[in-house]
Amino acid sequence: MNSSNPSKFLLICPVCQANQQQEQVCRRCKSDLGLVVAIEEKRIYHLSLAFAYLQKEEYQIALEQLHAAEQLRQGSDIKKYRAVVHLIANDFPKAWQLYNELVTEE
Ligand SMILES: [Zn+2]
Repeated sequence: MNSSNPSKFLLICPVCQANQQQEQVCRRCKSDLGLVVAIEEKRIYHLSLAFAYLQKEEYQIALEQLHAAEQLRQGSDIKKYRAVVHLIANDFPKAWQLYNELVTEE
């Protein structure tokens, strides 16, 4: 999360593909985006928990929180965070494997 305000995020309207700030209604097509916003907020919550458990060196719980976030929406960010968890947990083979998967996907 590289935003200065982590509670704010950009989202893409699933109806018209308009990029926009976190809003309940699409600025372009006026679709109700309440569920999309709720899912993204829940995903951010799980990512925040993952970072908190990572700081506590609770690596397995951190990975479980990343999995919960991934269940809501997949993204390359999850794999990057997962690689970091394995790296900090001294699981270098798994971290290297995830890193290689990331660079081959890009
Ligand atoms: Zn729209």
